[in-house]
Amino acid sequence: MAGIDALALAQALIRRPSVTPADAGALNVLEAVLKELGFTTHRLPFGDVDNLYARRGTEVPHFCFAGHTDVVPVGEGWKADPFAAEVKDGVLYGRGAADMKSAIAAFVAAVSRIAPPKGSISLLITGDEEGAAVNGTIKLLEWLKAKGEKIDHCVVGEPTSVSTTGDTLKIGRRGSINFRLTVRGVQGHVGYPQKAKNPIPALAELVTQLAGHKLDKGTEHFDASTLAFTTVDVGNPATNVIPGEARAGFNIRFNDRHTPDSLTNFVKDRAARVAQETGCEIEVVSQTSGVAFLTQPGKFTQLVSDTVATVTGQAPFFSTSGGTSDARFIKDACPVVELGLAGATMHKADECVPVAEIAALTDIYAALLAAYFAKPPL
Ligand SMILES: [Zn+2]
Repeated sequence: MAGIDALALAQALIRRPSVTPADAGALNVLEAVLKELGFTTHRLPFGDVDNLYARRGTEVPHFCFAGHTDVVPVGEGWKADPFAAEVKDGVLYGRGAADMKSAIAAFVAAVSRIAPPKGSISLLITGDEEGAAVNGTIKLLEWLKAKGEKIDHCVVGEPTSVSTTGDTLKIGRRGSINFRLTVRGVQGHVGYPQKAKNPIPALAELVTQLAGHKLDKGTEHFDASTLAFTTVDVGNPATNVIPGEARAGFNIRFNDRHTPDSLTNFVKDRAARVAQETGCEIEVVSQTSGVAFLTQPGKFTQLVSDTVATVTGQAPFFSTSGGTSDARFIKDACPVVELGLAGATMHKADECVPVAEIAALTDIYAALLAAYFAKPPL
């Protein structure tokens, strides 16, 4: 089959309004193209989410491209039609243009340009990255493991670049953990505070301590960890009642100095001290959405970096900043890096990407496949 046009495929994908968990035919579009390119495809629905695994070749090395066809909701304020995939003045507009349907299209176009190498190429595509991420990549990886399929290296096509394609290579991500604090005192009359136990000052004290605490100064490959409060709730409409309970929530983005356990212990320790000082009861509940991980710079990251430099003239900056992605699951299966378009407009109104950047990413992916199979970094 002749070369696939990345722009046309990106447009076809954007025209399927696959807002999580809906697929709206997006995976059908992709699956059909991959079949024509000689891939064996598997549709793997889990729960209300559809997923796709496609592989061409059975030998090692096995290079995998991972991504997602789902998109976040449109939101407000679009001038362009979010699902028309129109090109205006050399820029492609649409939900998913940056995050990350164009990258999937670029990867498929790159595969169509090179002769089938000795080894395997696969695509691991989920419809559940932007949602709960429960019925997507995690389940796909379990399925692969059960089948005895081993991936050697993976590139995730998230829009991780900053201003131009390939200027940044993500070699890890910070972890993310959410906390809920509930402070319980004793409800009472504001005129008789000695007969009540006000949870608000206790919560305020704990919030101040936690928000003012420096978790670390950063590590070799990571920025400093951050702690940000997202809500403080009392919800008390009465002006003459001391409430019995006050709640707050916060999120910690953490580097490789910390684990969910170490952070939970730290928060519980601070809470216990404030509880002792105030006589209130403080409950701490945490929920981890991802642990910090790092793909150690080595043969694989060097190969990717050198390839990008060959195409763009500039080696990418190695970064671990930003939110979480499905790379946090893939890192348990094989070395993984993230390389994609510039993400300036992702999740925003009038999400868009210059057509020239899609072409640049296709060039990078094609060069990467050629370099990888010419000299596998095993
Ligand atoms: Zn994404």
